[in-house]
Amino acid sequence: MDKPRAADRIGTTVGNFKILDYKWDYEKKETFYFIKCELCHNEKWTQWSVVKKAVGCGCQDERKIAIAIKKIGTISNNSKILDYNWDENNKIMTYFVKCIY
Ligand SMILES: [Zn+2]
Repeated sequence: MDKPRAADRIGTTVGNFKILDYKWDYEKKETFYFIKCELCHNEKWTQWSVVKKAVGCGCQDERKIAIAIKKIGTISNNSKILDYNWDENNKIMTYFVKCIY
């Protein structure tokens, strides 16, 4: 149990999350934090393990994917972008391109 430490985290910002509240989940035996994503203002309950690992709630991934979709069919550095691949685990975007020469 780390309730005093959880209380100390209220009002602090971790990554792009502002920590607003916390609660002890008796079933999961884990502290949950009520966080607000400062990128999209989404609010949700989540575990500390998620808070400290993530920089945002996932909205910035969606933004990256939206940009990737727009790039399909465009030409960059003599390569035509044909497709994209989003590596969810490693957060890496790769493009499948065709040289136009
Ligand atoms: Zn967000």
